[in-house]
Amino acid sequence: MKLRAIPRIAVGLVSLALLLLLAFDLVLRVFPDRAETERALRVRQVEQLAIQAAALVQAEDRRAVVRTLQAVQARDPQVESIVLRRDDGTVLAAAGPIVPGAEPLTVGITASGRHWGRLEVSYHRPGPARWLAGLLDGPAALLLLFAPLGTLLFYLYLKRTLQHLDPSTVVPDRVRNAFDTLSEGVLIVDTEGRVMLANRSASRLQPPGDEAPLTGRALQQLRWLQPVPGAGGADPAPWLTAVQRAQPLRGLPFQIADGAQLRARVNLNCSPLLDEGGALRGCIVTLDDVTALEQSHEQLLEVLADLAASKQELEVSNRALQRLATRDPLTGCLNRRAFFEQAEKMREQAQRRGRPLAAIMVDIDHFKSVNDRFGHAVGDQAIKRVAELLQSSVRDDALVGRYGGEEFCVVVPGTDAGGAAELAESIRARLADNRGEGLGPGEAVVLRASLGVSSTEFGATSVPGLVDQADRALYAAKEGGRNRVVVYDAVSTQEISA
Ligand code: GH3
Ligand code: MG
Ligand code: MG
Repeated sequence: MKLRAIPRIAVGLVSLALLLLLAFDLVLRVFPDRAETERALRVRQVEQLAIQAAALVQAEDRRAVVRTLQAVQARDPQVESIVLRRDDGTVLAAAGPIVPGAEPLTVGITASGRHWGRLEVSYHRPGPARWLAGLLDGPAALLLLFAPLGTLLFYLYLKRTLQHLDPSTVVPDRVRNAFDTLSEGVLIVDTEGRVMLANRSASRLQPPGDEAPLTGRALQQLRWLQPVPGAGGADPAPWLTAVQRAQPLRGLPFQIADGAQLRARVNLNCSPLLDEGGALRGCIVTLDDVTALEQSHEQLLEVLADLAASKQELEVSNRALQRLATRDPLTGCLNRRAFFEQAEKMREQAQRRGRPLAAIMVDIDHFKSVNDRFGHAVGDQAIKRVAELLQSSVRDDALVGRYGGEEFCVVVPGTDAGGAAELAESIRARLADNRGEGLGPGEAVVLRASLGVSSTEFGATSVPGLVDQADRALYAAKEGGRNRVVVYDAVSTQEISA
């Protein structure tokens, strides 16, 4: 309970009490009206004087009348003047100055059984002191005196009583200390979200601009406690929702923000509080500061992203390295070592499956003269051109290796000598058709090649053995006049027949 509320309650209670008293007075006339009482007294005084005057008029003792009137006027300071007037308006006797326009109290006088005249008594108008005294009379006095005094008394009483009712003072010290040792902010709120108890960690979350105690304030009115924008639904007052549904809510992302400045990230949990009878009493709200955790999480994510990036870079460089280690830089064909390694694996696989494996040796005809005529650079481009033609002529599962300077070797899985001879012939023909466009400075670079073919069906049990057979067939093709294909079998026949 806030202390500022106490004066308000005191004023409220006094107003209610005054209202009741005034209502009672209206119905039962509890307070006497002084003016009315005074007037009644005066009327009686004037009537008695009139009786006396009537007796003296009847006795026709004018001097006694005058004396009596003067004595009465002199004795009562409130009486300004007394006039005894005949019916015709003439004055028989008077005491004090006759004030024109005054409104005197008037009583009729009868003498010898008939109307004789009247007695007029004028009173002084009330001075400021008397006017004030009149004010302090009756219900007005009640308002003027009782209101401030009552408010003060109510205030003192309420202050004393409400201190006993303040939950934060009711909680025993050891319970408070236990709450204060918790690193989590703990708040106990009533069903309207007003804080009944806040531990030290909760108060520590308050931004510097807000020093007021949390107790007594509605949690939903703390501007600095807000749900993280865009985080699942973002209920601004989940403690009220938890009370409404009588269900706990956990792990809600909230933030402590001082204006635009974000001070902390907290995980908010709400558990409704029930009394012994099962009635909802409020809610226990815990605030777990996860700022540091969140920051290290973000840092971890950054490190992971860096790691992923460097892993990717590493993969790229590995691929580049792999390419450098296995490929010939000029043509992109497998280098000799990688070619033999991969071809051997291919041969073993073919053997296991009982499938043939063919090899084709390719050597560019009279290449020396290309170099001689067009220079080494054009020679290089010519070698590259032949490599491209080879690569585009074979299936993806075939291997194309640069065997030597202007020599290539192709290994084709699942192909017998006949199929390989056909492939070799198509390569030869494509090369023969090639005009060598763009190679030479003007004059076309004519490219021809001789090809030697062999296959595992001729008994080779290793790649070098197979390649050697194909190489012998190539030698035969050169011998036979170049720009041709010779199959190993034919070579052996030839050799045999020679
Ligand atoms: P043939 O095969 O028809 O008998 O005659 P050839 O002139 O092609 O044969 P040879 O083996 O005598 O010559 C091969 C030439 O290839 C020798 C060498 O200068 C050239 N050569 C080898 N490697 C390269 C290379 O990488 N670039 C260039 N420009 N020339 C190369
Ligand atoms: Mg050669
Ligand atoms: Mg050659």
